[in-house]
Amino acid sequence: MKIAVLPGDGIGPEIVVEAVKVLRALNLPFEMETAPVGGAAYAALGHPLPASTLKLAQDADAILFGAVGDWKYDTLDRHLRPEQAILGLRKHLGLFANFRPAICYPELVSASSLKPELVAGLDILIIRELTGDIYFGQPRGRRIATDGHFPDAEEAFDTMRYSRPEIERIAHVAFQAARKRSKRVTSVDKANVLETFQFWKDIVTEVSQQYPDVALDHMYVDNAAMQLVKAPKKFDVIVTGNMFGDILSDEASMLTGSIGMLPSASLDANNKGLYEPSHGSAPDIAGQGIANPLATILSAAMMLRFSLNQEAAAQRIENAVKSVLAQGLRTPDIYSDGTTRVSTIEMGNAVVNAMR
Ligand code: NAD
Repeated sequence: MKIAVLPGDGIGPEIVVEAVKVLRALNLPFEMETAPVGGAAYAALGHPLPASTLKLAQDADAILFGAVGDWKYDTLDRHLRPEQAILGLRKHLGLFANFRPAICYPELVSASSLKPELVAGLDILIIRELTGDIYFGQPRGRRIATDGHFPDAEEAFDTMRYSRPEIERIAHVAFQAARKRSKRVTSVDKANVLETFQFWKDIVTEVSQQYPDVALDHMYVDNAAMQLVKAPKKFDVIVTGNMFGDILSDEASMLTGSIGMLPSASLDANNKGLYEPSHGSAPDIAGQGIANPLATILSAAMMLRFSLNQEAAAQRIENAVKSVLAQGLRTPDIYSDGTTRVSTIEMGNAVVNAMR
């Protein structure tokens, strides 16, 4: 089982090393190879996604990814910015289906910003389309003024676009995932205003006819954003486009207590995947040893389940995470009175000990 390990920037290396520690403790025949990505790769090799890193990812059975991005690269040309690495990996590897489960562990009910009764028992799955929409639409760019009054660009634009096959395949992923859960899908769109999302809605409805056992409803994204904080347990599987999914999944993360708890899997058509925490590189806390490594450790568990066919090992990690939370161990982002504050490394060690 070949795993490409891409730690990236900011807290990426700190949290990935903990997930690698947990994977090694399983004593399974993993071959793990590390490569730079994002700002770290730009600094070392002049490109956020060097050919050698892309090749390692292409040859691997699965990819464990930390996070990319740092404010110090904000002035670079867009194609050289660290974030282009993750977009490039998704596009080159065809990772179109992003699974973001948002589960509120009973021990973290009080860490959520919502009332305990709203989040206790919460278990929703956001499925975000990952290789289309406005993040990849063409044309994109800026129009330069011609009258000489504006030395700079006068306007900027990005094109929102989805094709039929792109919507069909993510809809199938959502309906199939719902079949393993409570058989309900909410498709989130903005069909009232955007042509792209009327098309989305029509095609999701069409695909739903192949899944008569799954109930489908549609919701506008503005309403979905509201319902997620009003009555989040009403949802089960949410399927949506790239940009709406980006925003709604971060919103959902706070229901669970912290974005540091939320894992994710990005899969291609054959279940090869890239596994990363839902959060970014958190440059504000990098190097302080306080980042929560659990989202990355739980992403490693998803990797074992979806790409490496190691369900028992995945459950071992997930049970160990539940156990450290039950022991009251908390990184600062999920700390509350009466619990024990631990560092990133101590949290990783505790998960390894709980597995034993
Ligand atoms: P962020 O997710 O990095 O951080 C948001 C807030 O959450 C910060 O206060 C941070 O300290 C906190 N946080 C995040 N992860 C945490 C963890 N594991 N433990 C404790 N606290 C945590 O988002 P941002 O600040 O908007 O972006 C920072 C950089 O990350 C930017 O360059 C952005 O482009 C990049 N980014 C990368 C990815 C990715 O690599 N897939 C995703 C999102 C953002």
